[in-house]
Amino acid sequence: MAQDTIFSKIVAGEIPCNKVYEDDLVLAFEDINPSAKVHVLVIPKSNHLERLSEVATEDANLMGHIMVCINKIAKDLGIDKTGYRVITNSGENAHQEVPHLHFHILGGEPLSKRNN
Ligand code: 5GP
Repeated sequence: MAQDTIFSKIVAGEIPCNKVYEDDLVLAFEDINPSAKVHVLVIPKSNHLERLSEVATEDANLMGHIMVCINKIAKDLGIDKTGYRVITNSGENAHQEVPHLHFHILGGEPLSKRNN
């Protein structure tokens, strides 16, 4: 079970963000410290998952929905044709900073061939 993080505060509207997409289950907003020309974070509004390694069978619909949202967001941002990368950092070795499941969409320019 995830704790309350900065992302919960963003979902609650207690901390501002540059929102790019929202529905009942998902919020997407610009990363405050972008690693690429386009850097958007896509999060479930629920904070019940700290990281990908906690995802369970009952989360399958939510996870599928997040992937569909990522596809829609990339199209809306106009990066679907040129390409983009989706990353989720799960845990310590991946240097996950915020313990609330999230997916990074990176694009808008050529990215490094590898991510490490
Ligand atoms: P992680 O390392 O956990 O995968 O990524 C966390 C991301 O959240 C980082 O890229 C960081 O820049 C971003 N971030 C941290 N705090 C905030 C914030 O208050 N607002 C926004 N928009 N992004 C944040």
